[in-house]
This record gives sequence, structure tokens and C-alpha cells, in this order.
Amino acid sequence: MRKIEHIGIAVKNLEESNDLFTKLFGAAPYKMEKVASEGVNTSFFMNGPNKIELLEATNEDSPIAKFIANKGEGIHHIAFDVEDIVSEIERLKGEGFIVLNEVPKKGADNKLVAFLHPKSTNGVLIELCQEIK
Ligand code: ZN
Repeated sequence: MRKIEHIGIAVKNLEESNDLFTKLFGAAPYKMEKVASEGVNTSFFMNGPNKIELLEATNEDSPIAKFIANKGEGIHHIAFDVEDIVSEIERLKGEGFIVLNEVPKKGADNKLVAFLHPKSTNGVLIELCQEIK
């Protein structure tokens, strides 16, 4: 696993949060993307070398809707950049982590992604992501 690729924050209203984070960083999101398979609308901000992803649920069954219902808005996941997501999934399974996506799936922002269950990572949802070249 390499650097933190981004931090994901669950929000109730993406439009309002886009305005808020635009004020915070002094720059608008560089990308907005709907991921229909996950039931989320996302936006991405760069601040220096750091990337923040905002996630809004598009329906009640979305994992983001469930997260907000349980915990409220806030940090939802930490994503780490990996060179080879398939071998990293194998390695982490071997170490006893619960991998939620044994086959990586297409995520937002041109990435292949897989998640580790927070039960196996001290309550923090971990996303592995590999840039699609
Ligand atoms: Zn993410």
C-alpha cells in the first residue's frame, strides 16, 4: 500500500457541501461523478497534494444513506493507492482481513477499487484503489 489516495466524507446534501468545501479550500471540485452501481453522487477536491471525496446517497438503499442514518455525516473511508490491486487483495486476505470485493470493481475517478470490512480494520472502512491506465 502506498500513500493515502483520498479521504471520503459522507454528506447529506452534495450541493451544499460543495459550496462549503469550495470555501474551505478556495477552489471548486475538479470533478463530479455519479456512480450508479453504488448509489452515490461524488465530487472531488484537490487541496495541495491531498484529495477529498464527498459522497451523497442517491437512494435510501445506498451504503452512504445507511452510514448517515447510523453515524451521521462525517469521514466514511480512507483510500490507499495500490500498485496492483489484485495481488494486494490476495495479500490482505492472507493476513486475515475481510475483503468486501474479492474482484475489484470500477469506482469513481478512474479507479479500480475494493473495500476492507471495518470489522477487520478497527472500525475504519479502508478502500484500496488502483488507477486505471
Ligand atoms: Zn473513495
